[in-house]
Amino acid sequence: MRKLTLFFAFTLVVNGFTGVAQTAPKPYEVATWAGFRQAAISYTFDDGCSNQFKVAIPLFDEYGFNLTMFTVKDWSGANWSALKTASDKGHEIASHTVTHANFSQVTITQQETELKDSKTAIEGQITNKKCLTMAYPYCVAGVDSICGKYYISARGCQGFVEGKTPASYYNISSVICGDKGATQNLSQFKTNFSAVAKSNGWLVYLFHGIDKDGGYSPITSIELRKSVAYLAARKPKFWVTTFLNATLYSKERNAVSVTETATTDSSMTLQVTDNLADSIYNYPLSIRRPLPEGWPSASVTQNNVAVPFRIVQVDAVVYLIFDVVPDAGEVKILKSSTFVTPEVDIIPADDVDPVVVNRLDATKDDISAVYNNNRILISLPITVCSDFVISVYDVRGVKLFYTNVSVASNEISVDVPSLKTGVYFVRQNVWSKKIAVS
Ligand SMILES: [Zn+2]
Repeated sequence: MRKLTLFFAFTLVVNGFTGVAQTAPKPYEVATWAGFRQAAISYTFDDGCSNQFKVAIPLFDEYGFNLTMFTVKDWSGANWSALKTASDKGHEIASHTVTHANFSQVTITQQETELKDSKTAIEGQITNKKCLTMAYPYCVAGVDSICGKYYISARGCQGFVEGKTPASYYNISSVICGDKGATQNLSQFKTNFSAVAKSNGWLVYLFHGIDKDGGYSPITSIELRKSVAYLAARKPKFWVTTFLNATLYSKERNAVSVTETATTDSSMTLQVTDNLADSIYNYPLSIRRPLPEGWPSASVTQNNVAVPFRIVQVDAVVYLIFDVVPDAGEVKILKSSTFVTPEVDIIPADDVDPVVVNRLDATKDDISAVYNNNRILISLPITVCSDFVISVYDVRGVKLFYTNVSVASNEISVDVPSLKTGVYFVRQNVWSKKIAVS
């Protein structure tokens, strides 16, 4: 945070009335989303269902995108090393509370403990990053001021696509995907994509299960892959990014002031500043201006260090686009004498669909189930999530028994009535496993 001069304070207040606080003198423009893309899209995954690790993370790595995992602290014991590995690749590991508490059913004190202790636990495991966002279990929002002590944004699931700036950063809407939601296949994903492009907004998706991992509202991995491949073919149009990065970017973009403090024939000096806490709000903002008349090319530095820039032609205008961090030092635009051919972004038409092949599909072979002394012990490849029903059927398909199970483990132990010698089937939502009792 830089000390605001009277001038900056004044411009912020004036623009506050219009709802857009970004200030940049002509010909400078601050992008609504990174890289001057039309919209932001965040894929968020709750509860740590096993195929989020086996399918989603490898898929996003393959296409060069990052996702957000909302982790339940008490459910994730076995997964910390996988979460740390994901974090190191740029994925966001954020909070889904300690116990997956329903905030309409716990006290204010308990809510605060859920928020605080999950953050502390995640930061204790992933020590090189801050845990700054959370998702409310069951999409039941708590008290903004308590959440705001620990987090800069929180996710709900109201089902609509947010605009450029969410109505409330402590209850950002998401769209539930999978068989319990309205988004299950590529054509439905595309409906959301075109809506968010039109509004220059922020689309947040919420996933639980993938294929047959037992998670709530599973999406098929093939449709998930198609949606990601569709966006990968349109990287200049859609910014696929973590929940945190879209939060940081949108708040910084609304708060930033750009001023040109000096110009010569071969350089321009800019101050890019905001009133946000610099220890948190350090995501680069994309700024552009037309390449000055008569300049063959340009380069950009901030605090005397080169920063990423592109020279891009949009219609008849050649722009210099560069990424700088507010309050991270003076920005210098320098004339370069080497001519560079401007890039032109090519975006396929909306109806051009990706051709994809699914590679990884969880099967019941990953699961083992054994009966022993009135107990069935089920082993899964990784920690499973949520509440679900386990049922036991005989070979004729008659249901003998069922029970609700709430787990935070890759081992599920279910007490069942005594089973006679024979063959039975243990079923859980989407998988069925044969067991032999001898
Ligand atoms: Zn959940």
